[in-house]
Amino acid sequence: MSIRIGIMGYGNLGRGVECAVKHNPDLELAAVFTRRDPETVKILTETAKVCHVDEAEKMKDEIDVLIICGGSATDLPVQTPKYAQWFNVVDSFDTHARIPEHFENVDKAAKESGHVGIISVGWDPGMFSLNRMYANAILTNGKDYTFWGKGVSQGHSDAIRRIDGVKDGKQYTIPVEAALESVRNGENPELTTRQKHTRECFVVAEEGADLARIEQEIKTMPNYFADYDTTVHFISEEELKRDHSGIPHGGFVIRTGSTGWDNENKHVIEYSLKLDSNPEFTSSVIVAYARAAYRMSQEGQKGCKTVFDVAPAYLSAMDGAELRKHLL
Ligand code: NDP
Repeated sequence: MSIRIGIMGYGNLGRGVECAVKHNPDLELAAVFTRRDPETVKILTETAKVCHVDEAEKMKDEIDVLIICGGSATDLPVQTPKYAQWFNVVDSFDTHARIPEHFENVDKAAKESGHVGIISVGWDPGMFSLNRMYANAILTNGKDYTFWGKGVSQGHSDAIRRIDGVKDGKQYTIPVEAALESVRNGENPELTTRQKHTRECFVVAEEGADLARIEQEIKTMPNYFADYDTTVHFISEEELKRDHSGIPHGGFVIRTGSTGWDNENKHVIEYSLKLDSNPEFTSSVIVAYARAAYRMSQEGQKGCKTVFDVAPAYLSAMDGAELRKHLL
């Protein structure tokens, strides 16, 4: 029997999970829940239903794992502990500083109800966290580096759009090639924020807007752009739509370190991602962890977990014997 998946919230991630479920034959989509009028939310899977969130509790016996696809800022801190009362849950909570607090809330709810909740699944946090952890455990004598990009930062794009005279805009975070090279060469550089990443902005201005002022406001915006070398390009609405409508992202996790009695041998561990679609990749990671949540729950485990707590074999659709034969 397939593992029955529910999707809570149908945005970029919700749609990505739906696609990922399609490509995993051991999973099936049972229902999508939304806070909007279900009639207005059109999904792709003909066999699944769209329901209002208020109906979720009633369907607790029809769903094995509920994937919570709300936004990290305000949705997930409420939704994940709430639905852990009735379901095994997985989310992609990515506000790094608040993960310990989110863990405690989900852990309490999941332990009380006897479910498994896996939080902060995706690529960062998620696959990047795992790779940082493996590299740290292996090369205890070393230094960590994470670079992001090239990719769209939603937060920085929103910040540009809030400037007076800006109609629309997209921001790309780009790693500095020289910094990457220096790290890969094992030079262990101390890098400032400015030395690690640049920011490139594509802006559609309103007619007659003062372009010099907009550019100045972007480049000097504290927390977002002031600490980076930022380039601003003014383009037309058509160009933005044609060339910048995707949601690519990616990055590099690198740890350099040394071994030997006098640390005479150097090593570089590198994990890199180049993603055409950030939400679709994130959703593919989440779906593998949904399989793990189901299996762990079947074994009687309960409480909150992160990617650190899930053994790799739980993620794969293959069983132990197949894994040992094909992938070991
Ligand atoms: P969206 O803004 O696309 O969706 C968030 C929620 O907004 C949905 O669940 C949906 O809820 C609602 N919504 C979506 N579209 C509409 C609409 N047209 N009108 C009204 N409401 C809408 O966010 P994403 O799916 O792109 O991302 C979700 C979170 O995932 C992000 O906040 C981010 O923090 C996290 N993330 C984590 C990553 C990681 O590596 N860990 C990577 C990428 C993202 P409803 O259906 O109930 O209305």
